[in-house]
Amino acid sequence: MTNTESRLLKLAERVDDARDDLIALTQALIQMPTINPPGVGYLEICEFVATRMAKRGFSTELVRAEGAIGDSDKYPRWNVIARHEGSHAGECVHFNSHSDVVDVGDGWTVDPFAGVVRDGKVYGRGACDMKGGLAASIIAAEAFIDTFPDYAGSIEISATADEESGGYGGVAYLAEKGWFNPERVQHVIIPEPLNKDRICLGHRGVLWTEIETYGHIAHGSMPFLGDCAIRHMGAVVEQLENKVYPALAKRRTSMPVVPDGARQSTMNINSMHGGLAEPEEGYTGLPTPLVPDRCRMVLDRRFLMEEDIEQVRTELLDVLEELGETRDKFRYEMRELFSVLPTMTERDSPVVTAVADAIKSQLGCEPEYVVSPGTYDQKHIDRIGRMKNCIAYGPGILDLAHQPDEYIGIDDMLDSAKIMGNTLHSLLMSQ
Ligand SMILES: [Zn+2]
Repeated sequence: MTNTESRLLKLAERVDDARDDLIALTQALIQMPTINPPGVGYLEICEFVATRMAKRGFSTELVRAEGAIGDSDKYPRWNVIARHEGSHAGECVHFNSHSDVVDVGDGWTVDPFAGVVRDGKVYGRGACDMKGGLAASIIAAEAFIDTFPDYAGSIEISATADEESGGYGGVAYLAEKGWFNPERVQHVIIPEPLNKDRICLGHRGVLWTEIETYGHIAHGSMPFLGDCAIRHMGAVVEQLENKVYPALAKRRTSMPVVPDGARQSTMNINSMHGGLAEPEEGYTGLPTPLVPDRCRMVLDRRFLMEEDIEQVRTELLDVLEELGETRDKFRYEMRELFSVLPTMTERDSPVVTAVADAIKSQLGCEPEYVVSPGTYDQKHIDRIGRMKNCIAYGPGILDLAHQPDEYIGIDDMLDSAKIMGNTLHSLLMSQ
């Protein structure tokens, strides 16, 4: 056995020895109910992570995303970045986890914030998405530092706010302030729950638009005196059904998106509203007879590397313009709410090959390369941070995210911590 091989073996043993510590750490993180929205407990969880990392020789900084979307004095958006310097200069590997969790919802059979341990799993809201990933990355970094104190470069661990609501008070803010840029950080791993043998290279693009059709209000008994905005919207939906949806279904992508149903262009109608507002609870009267003069629809279009965002916009606009020419009194407006370009890290990028090699040596299988159907914080690292060398890799089963009785497997966390430790070795010991 070579010296390197025996030290890597020691690294794996060091992770296994930390089993109880890993469980306790995951439980402690789950026991802080950082529910978003509204986004609570960020300061507490950041201080907890900072205290832990400071004990291990990390310098720590708490950053509030002042002025970012979602930040307020009542609900401040706190983030923590912890950094450990190696014995000499080199590159920086950054593990970024979001600290927020989604609301609990119904159907739980355990207390969602107790951190119940049962049958080799830790249960709780955020267990897999993604406090288990955060815990695994902390254990990996600590084990690596213990085993390879002579490493070159630096390691960063961050816990950031608001990923579940767009990441503007978290990674987007930090990227704008220069925390993620290629001069400071060279490799980024986001331990989202993608399964321990999968490397997530990126995500599809998003275009959210709001379409509004206009009519003319009148008495419901004489609709011919008005103009029904909902019927105009019905015509829009009909065009989407007849033209756009069939076209989207044919547009397949070379991106390895999972699940397979998302390996094409998709579009969801998020909401539609026209006519009278929903009556307040307790209102017992009848509705009034009115011809609706406005109807609004929000569309969530997910697009592919092979598509151009301009074409995605044009495709929708064409439908509206055609109706404007063919349909009597058709008036509309289209507003863009939100857009993100698709991103996919190259398979031969250093962080991808390092994690792939670690999966092979640790699990004895080939990694699966995947792309996420929806976006996550990589979008900000890519666009604002201008960093292409970024992936999502972490323990946990994606399907469990946001579900009742969410859990994380303890052995899965240990395996992925070993893979993260191995990755640190190949990125930071070979410089
Ligand atoms: Zn997540």
